[in-house]
Amino acid sequence: MGIVIPPWRKDDLGPILNQKAYAIFDGGDGMRSLPGLCLELLAEQKKAWLDLRQGYESLKEVRERDVRCGGFSVRLQYNPGRIKSSLASVGEKNANERRCFLCLNHLPEGQKGLLYRNEYLILCNPMPIFPSHFTVSHLAHRPQAIIEHIDSLLQLMSEFGFGWTVFYNGPKCGASAPDHLHFQASPSGQMPIEKDIREEKRLTLLTQIDGALLYRVRGLGREVVILEGDDPMAVGGALQGFQNALKETLLLDEEPMMNIAGIYEERKWRLVVFPRRKHRPDAFFKKGDGRVVVSPGLIDMGGVLVTPVKKDFERLDAAAVEGIYREVSLEAKTVEKAIDALV
Ligand SMILES: [Zn+2]
Repeated sequence: MGIVIPPWRKDDLGPILNQKAYAIFDGGDGMRSLPGLCLELLAEQKKAWLDLRQGYESLKEVRERDVRCGGFSVRLQYNPGRIKSSLASVGEKNANERRCFLCLNHLPEGQKGLLYRNEYLILCNPMPIFPSHFTVSHLAHRPQAIIEHIDSLLQLMSEFGFGWTVFYNGPKCGASAPDHLHFQASPSGQMPIEKDIREEKRLTLLTQIDGALLYRVRGLGREVVILEGDDPMAVGGALQGFQNALKETLLLDEEPMMNIAGIYEERKWRLVVFPRRKHRPDAFFKKGDGRVVVSPGLIDMGGVLVTPVKKDFERLDAAAVEGIYREVSLEAKTVEKAIDALV
């Protein structure tokens, strides 16, 4: 397929985009759907890019096991292909020294993407957790930050549409490239949280912010807040309000740690927010047998706990999983205080 990058690209990305763009999505009339184009990209990339094909082949080796905790279940996923990602150094110093793997000029030779609204390149994740797993990477190298780019997340949610989940990991709690703005997208139905939040008894409606509803979800062993509405501006504004309240409560200048899953259904935008206290549990930093290699991001908080080390996959039990969630999730009283400040 021949791609012509629009002439209104005034920066110097034009030549490299011509090389790297498999197709363009700009939302125009008669355009194929975003998921359709992404799945076609994935099929093509599996043929043309060996590392991706191998990454998806290794998904066949993945083993899973459900762990019943108090009032909820999680799925452990033994996925040795994720070891590099789980052990990644994500501190600022390392980020500066590391060659950014999302920058256009560092993409592997075989990798191509879908140019999305002239602002992002949608790429196939070569270390997938799910059978179709995409990274939506900004064309420019700029830090991971949600409020400045909430419009992109909300637009991606409605353009991927029903049946897809678009997600965000904060720069200090799960993003493997904290210095390069990106989202991820996968077909829905793979994370236990998606079912958990459909159980009405778990939900408590706490307040409305300019027409967006704020629910707290109970009994999941970690803090979960849902912001929902049929006006994306209101939902984005509610996230900003909640984030500001957390910043005030925690006395922070920077973005409070959070993972967000975005689900679009029946013309409603729903953000499932996991406020965080820390990225990795203390056990991650232990030496020897006590070390547990888990590095929770959105997927793990959503109930698929990725364990790239076999021993961890075999030994983690309900108490250990509950302990990990308790440790990395923000405390209930802090979340309550932030929500009280909103009302
Ligand atoms: Zn970059």
